[in-house]
Amino acid sequence: MRYLITGGAGFIGANLAHQLVEEGNEILVVDNLITGRHSNIEDLVRNSRFEFKRQDIIEIFDPGDIDGIYHLASIGSVYHYLNNPIETMRVGSIGTERMLELARERNCRLVFSSTSEVYGSPLVHPQVEDYWGNVNPVGIRSVYDESKRYAEALTMAYYRKYRVDVGIARIFNTYGPYMDPDDRRVMPNFITQALSGKPLTIYGDGSQTRSFCYVDDTVGGLIKLMESNCPGPVNIGNPDEYSIKELADTISALLGVPGKYEYEELPEDDPLKRKPDISLAKSVLGWTPGVSLREGLEKTIKWFRKELQ
Ligand code: UDP
Repeated sequence: MRYLITGGAGFIGANLAHQLVEEGNEILVVDNLITGRHSNIEDLVRNSRFEFKRQDIIEIFDPGDIDGIYHLASIGSVYHYLNNPIETMRVGSIGTERMLELARERNCRLVFSSTSEVYGSPLVHPQVEDYWGNVNPVGIRSVYDESKRYAEALTMAYYRKYRVDVGIARIFNTYGPYMDPDDRRVMPNFITQALSGKPLTIYGDGSQTRSFCYVDDTVGGLIKLMESNCPGPVNIGNPDEYSIKELADTISALLGVPGKYEYEELPEDDPLKRKPDISLAKSVLGWTPGVSLREGLEKTIKWFRKELQ
């Protein structure tokens, strides 16, 4: 199969590209490198089954023959989407429309990477797919949240009106190799801080929760969604929920450093809790995550150590 991966030089995209090439597929990665990193796919460039094109997907381009589209292009880190608010909205809206048009024209399946952020700061816990969410439509995070909500609505409109074969994945916090150490998300921050002996920066009192999924599990879920005919949306995440303070304690303990913390202000509209209900993914895709936080952190820390050298 030949797949197009938009955002394939980004964190999840690069992991997906490596996995799909290893399975014998041909891959075209398209990325404008606003937050994607060429170094994430450098080792693939020599492979004859791999192609990279530096391209903004809001511009029309010809990807050649394709059998499916993984549409992952987005600016996922809070720090980066707050600094690139218009680009974030444009890739979610115009970029998604371009990819849906392409899927329609080529008559191929499109898997779209939506997000747990569509639930905002949720009032239903854990989050099930039929929960509509609690999003501030004009808050600072809305550029990301609302562009993803719009993209989901547009994807469903193409599904209903043109019968485009789509699959919407709502991805919860993911971590692992190929994460940008500087992207200011909690995992890279805590790991790089702990590795360099600096205090870990906890925002708020650290009681807010997230559920962290190791990237190999997330990628496995996306591939299963592509191979199914489920339109979704379907939650892809690990339901093991931790407070941010517990995460800081776990990383400190794994690295054998004392838990030195610096408490900073909680960012505006920071969701208080997040945990996926994955019953749908289990029953429809036969997917369930298998990597524990401890195991995933060990692999991630090993990768960060090498990356930082
Ligand atoms: N966070 C933190 N310290 C950091 C970076 C993030 O305490 O150095 C918190 C942040 O406020 C949020 C959680 O960790 O509650 C996850 O943040 P991240 O930006 O990784 O992802 P998201 O908020 O999009 O889930």
